[in-house]
Amino acid sequence: MNHETAQNSRKRLTADCSKCFGLCCTALNMIVSSDFPINKAAGTPCDHLQSNYACRIHRNLREKGFKGCTVYDCLGAGQFVSQITFKGQNWRDHPKLGTIMFQVFPVMEQIHEMIAYTVEALSYDLPHALTDKLSSQLKKLRDITKCEAEYLLSLDLVKLRAPLNELLTKISASVRANYIEKLPTPKSYEEYDHGGSDWIGKQLSGKDLRAFHFRGAYLIAADLRRADLRAVDFIGADLRDADLSGANLMTSMFLTQMQINSAKGNVKTILPFYIQRPLHWSH
Ligand code: SF4
Repeated sequence: MNHETAQNSRKRLTADCSKCFGLCCTALNMIVSSDFPINKAAGTPCDHLQSNYACRIHRNLREKGFKGCTVYDCLGAGQFVSQITFKGQNWRDHPKLGTIMFQVFPVMEQIHEMIAYTVEALSYDLPHALTDKLSSQLKKLRDITKCEAEYLLSLDLVKLRAPLNELLTKISASVRANYIEKLPTPKSYEEYDHGGSDWIGKQLSGKDLRAFHFRGAYLIAADLRRADLRAVDFIGADLRDADLSGANLMTSMFLTQMQINSAKGNVKTILPFYIQRPLHWSH
């Protein structure tokens, strides 16, 4: 996939709240925590959601305790469900559609996440066999997004994700192995594998962590200031409150906007081109 095609694919995975019927503000639940000041049941509109589906406190979410709303990213699932799956019919005018629409939304969000990983994987220089498998995965996932709501709800997402997970693991290994090979003093490949590790609150400022494998790792509140995180695989890693100020994530792999939104950083943090710098990051 060339750069332009990848950019276009990513645009479709960018949330456009103006075309969504406030699905994240309605379909998802909230639990009193550091992320939310209230409890809200799934399928119930948030009190701050206005009749035009805009948030009444959008400019002050963090000050009002709704940090979770500034972290969440639907990857474009909201507008897709609103405009494509339900053909622009909203749940206020068509209340009977609400229940199914709210159930479809998190399913679509997961499919969009799989598409985002696939699009990223296709941007790497890979053997043809892998590229072909990824392209057919992408087609399959895109075809699924266009299916009827009932079909989407019948999907076994674990089963759907399994072949992609296998491919992404191979791709991560291949890309990082190539990167490691070019390092001036590479360590043994095993020393880069920290998948699922518990590095909560760990002091890693200024460390060279290039090509590390952090799949599913716990990096909550880790001090990663000025760390070199190029070619690191972050798939599924928990980066909540990790400090990325001044860190270099230019070529980090499988990083999501939501992971970055949940972390801390500043203007000196170098991000992959497809990740936006969060507005709430310090200067
Ligand atoms: S506070 Fe605003 S953004 Fe958060 S759920 Fe409520 S309406 Fe949506």
